Amino acid sequence: MSRSAHPAGPRHADVLPEGHYSAPADDLNALDPKVWAHTVGRDADGVVTVGGIAVTQLAEEYGTPAYILDEADFRDRARAWRTAFGNDADVFYAGKAFLSRAVVRWLHEEGLNLDVCSAGELATALSAGMPAERIAFHGNNKSPEEIERAVRAGVGRIVIDSFQEIVRVAHIAQSLGRRQPVQIRITVGVEAHTHEFIATAHEDQKFGIPLAGGQAAEAVRRALQLDGLEVIGIHSHIGSQIFDMSGFEVAAHRVVGLLKDIRDEHGVELPEIDLGGGLGIAYTSADDPREPHEIAKALTEIVTRECESARLRTPRISVEPGRAIVGPTAFTLYEVGTVKPLDGLRTYVSVDGGMSDNIRTALYDAEYSVALVSRTSDAEPMLVRVVGKHCESGDIVVKDAFLPGDLAPGDLVAVAATGAYCRSMASNYNHALRPPVVAVRDGAARVIVRRETEDDLLRLDVG
Ligand SMILES: *Cc1c(COP(=O)(O)O)cnc(C)c1O
Repeated sequence: MSRSAHPAGPRHADVLPEGHYSAPADDLNALDPKVWAHTVGRDADGVVTVGGIAVTQLAEEYGTPAYILDEADFRDRARAWRTAFGNDADVFYAGKAFLSRAVVRWLHEEGLNLDVCSAGELATALSAGMPAERIAFHGNNKSPEEIERAVRAGVGRIVIDSFQEIVRVAHIAQSLGRRQPVQIRITVGVEAHTHEFIATAHEDQKFGIPLAGGQAAEAVRRALQLDGLEVIGIHSHIGSQIFDMSGFEVAAHRVVGLLKDIRDEHGVELPEIDLGGGLGIAYTSADDPREPHEIAKALTEIVTRECESARLRTPRISVEPGRAIVGPTAFTLYEVGTVKPLDGLRTYVSVDGGMSDNIRTALYDAEYSVALVSRTSDAEPMLVRVVGKHCESGDIVVKDAFLPGDLAPGDLVAVAATGAYCRSMASNYNHALRPPVVAVRDGAARVIVRRETEDDLLRLDVG
């Protein structure tokens, strides 16, 4: 997180307001490879290119705003996770971060599995040919219809989130003549976000069954008795945008403790544990994410050590990265519409999208990096707030950033690392048309999710 006050003076503001920003980078034209997709660079004219294509060309062909996704980068990251965890573990991509049929095919080809959490995500996965046994179904309130579809499809696991669901899934599976593999999702008393993890107030949330008070053990006890269920493991997901492995350490310790109790009580060693997702990415240069191989090594060591001391066979580990795979692979391309300097404050830069294509800033106070991408500039940096075009003053895309002082309407800017939780959380607020996702690779671009049209909007309006 960038948290330093009063950077060196940009010309547009004599007095800089308090804010959460670092000093401007030495060179505003530079693109930090930590933050931008792998193939992002600038051509000889200073225009940013990705997958070998200039953003000016992408804007002309596909319009703005648009999410531009670097397919090679996505495949690289997916493969890095797969390779890091090896054949004794499974990597489930969390589809809620961003899901489309092209993405499902890439994951399938790269050997990853897939988490879904709704009938819509399940339909997308199945329609793109993801084998059902490689799909896990999540959610704290799956409808009976969703459960039935998942069981009928033959999903590899349903992750059970409540006592009611134990009975519900068992009943549906049994009535279909199936024995459904399930994991029980527990809350281990750790909640991790970004740099810190909190070991109190963690069980006060809607997901999972608390380990505390013996509830998780009771859930396993009940599930083991039901013919419709095959209990294959325990699931724990502790948070999001995590950089520090200590939260996982505590979680693994407690999950293994439960496995040991289950072995002692029932004489069964459950074969799997899932440690969830939540691994952080660099939204700004101040963030330092771990590499997949470091994460794999740390998690495997923790689980192996804990199992050895509990004299348990080491279970098969699975993880569920969403953001860490897709987040850094895409940026949002916008055209600047207005530039409004407010004396002594900052300059408001309005782009042609906003909270409808990126709600994270309004929702979580998320930080982002933004750059002028249609040209380079040697102008002095100015402190800006990049805002959208919606009728809402909280419609902020990037709260505090520096852009060149000669920024003007018609310039293209890009906001980095918008691959996760932007298109998937996009809305039609103000009847905005949700932007397309354009995948680029080796000099070729193709639309994988098209831009919405007014016809799309009006089709739903049957009044
Ligand atoms: C959201 C979620 C994930 C993915 O989280 P990221 O922060 O995108 O890695 C994984 N597992 C579960 C159960 C989730 O709810």
